[in-house]
Amino acid sequence: MPELPEVETVRAGLARRLPGRTLRAIHFARADLRWPMPTGPLRRLAGRRCASIERRSKYLLLHFSGPGRPVALVHLGMSGRVFVEAAAPRRDAPPWRRHEHWRMDFGACLVRFVDPRRFGVLDLVPEARLEQHRLLRALGPEPLDPAFDAGRLHARTRGRRVALKSFLMDARNVVGIGNIYASETCFRAGVRPRRRVGRLTRGECQRIVDAARSVLREAIAKGGTSLRDYVSADESPGWFQLALRVYGRGGEPCTVCATPIRRVVDGARATFYCPRCQA
Ligand SMILES: [Zn+2]
Repeated sequence: MPELPEVETVRAGLARRLPGRTLRAIHFARADLRWPMPTGPLRRLAGRRCASIERRSKYLLLHFSGPGRPVALVHLGMSGRVFVEAAAPRRDAPPWRRHEHWRMDFGACLVRFVDPRRFGVLDLVPEARLEQHRLLRALGPEPLDPAFDAGRLHARTRGRRVALKSFLMDARNVVGIGNIYASETCFRAGVRPRRRVGRLTRGECQRIVDAARSVLREAIAKGGTSLRDYVSADESPGWFQLALRVYGRGGEPCTVCATPIRRVVDGARATFYCPRCQA
């Protein structure tokens, strides 16, 4: 599943190409993904200029200029990919790819959305109501934003019995930390993933914030680290692996202390930690 660094990679790819370009048309191969798409209002975006490409959590936000300042909200779901292709100077549109569900024609470039499992999202919202959108309004802070800090993390976790890793993966607390990044964050912070968050010290909260930021910054710098094959917006492979220190290393020696890394399964998810480095 694309995680925050992959989505940020796609955002950067789109941001290099689309702002300033006018949308000529949007075409649909079907009317629904995870939910029905507002195809009529989306088609009426034709003629609008793309103003900027932003990201909130794992949502790509394509801002358009003009009345109402509409924002197209895109989520990659479980298996979505975005391709941006330079459009050849030809009359015929390229044939649709397998599992391609919509495409935006920006003249010199074509944005194509391919999603075999169809858990993706395409919606439209005026900029003024963006933060109230049903998919965005309950989201916690961005991990790289100053609003995610040790003081707030400490305050928010008092009296809570949930395990640290589950807490980090809950978007109401902080967005964009999936299973891999949660394990890596706990390792770098020196805290076991199953620790109850109510017991975290202020110092541990600081280490967790610092660790989450460094893991995500590193992953973004490397273009994301999805374990599946994955193509970023410019079709370059996006699986420049983050140097994973614990995830997927069950039984292998810890990179710090050589103790074998432990693998435990919570629900359907594997969790990895060093029993010596993490308290
Ligand atoms: Zn260790």
